[in-house]
Amino acid sequence: MLRPAAAALAPVAAVAAAHIVPAATWLPRLRAVCFPRLAGLGRPDHVALTFDDGPDPRSTPHFLDALDRLGVRATFFVLGASAVRFPELTRDIARRGHELAVHGWTHSRPWLPAPARDLAEIARAARVVRDITGRQPLWYRPPYGILTGGRWAAGRRLGLRPVLWTAWGRDWTADATPATVRATVSVDLRGGGTILLHDSDRASAPGCWRAALGALPALVVGCRDVGWEVGTLAEHAVDHRGADRRGDARAEVAPWSGQDAWQHERHVVEPM
Ligand SMILES: [Zn+2]
Repeated sequence: MLRPAAAALAPVAAVAAAHIVPAATWLPRLRAVCFPRLAGLGRPDHVALTFDDGPDPRSTPHFLDALDRLGVRATFFVLGASAVRFPELTRDIARRGHELAVHGWTHSRPWLPAPARDLAEIARAARVVRDITGRQPLWYRPPYGILTGGRWAAGRRLGLRPVLWTAWGRDWTADATPATVRATVSVDLRGGGTILLHDSDRASAPGCWRAALGALPALVVGCRDVGWEVGTLAEHAVDHRGADRRGDARAEVAPWSGQDAWQHERHVVEPM
């Protein structure tokens, strides 16, 4: 039997657990093994290319031009506050064939449970994307990849599917270069994976977007060289049964990595 003080605290602990326990899906290896759809595992002959933190008029147009040159379409997880500030750029992303998805209203950390605020902000961001582009977004990726219980529930209620990533470029750091971004992505990249890069430095080191931009051509060519098509999450078929055949997908790692992605012990660092 609980003491009175402990009994009084039990509901608080339950609320805290419901808030933060789902955020454990942030751990990349846990996610890839236990939650392949959340990780963004799709059909094995395809790699989804995704960008977070835009739109940003200083950097996003460079990515749109580079993607046009490469003939690649990607998924952009935008912030609602930025989309409403730069509607023409947001519209241009969609007009050029890319997919828009929801990253949140602002790039905030969810320290305390706030399910009503989560719902209101994600709904507002989704509405802005829909109003500007004329298309209902399908996907939601929370800032920092921290999927709390409140954010998960809000996404579900709004019909947005949460998707994180299987491979990131650590392109948000001040010392990132095109070579480090490419090498870091390759550690965990395999057929069916989802790449996380950033088309804005608004939540990271100033100018770091240039490293992601510089890495793009080699990343895309490297994928194509081994027969992986590069495209949007919508084309990725996250529901494809191949997403559950992880054993098959693991056999194929980025051939330029020189490593077995699943033997690699990654450092736990905070994504942007
Ligand atoms: Zn972000």
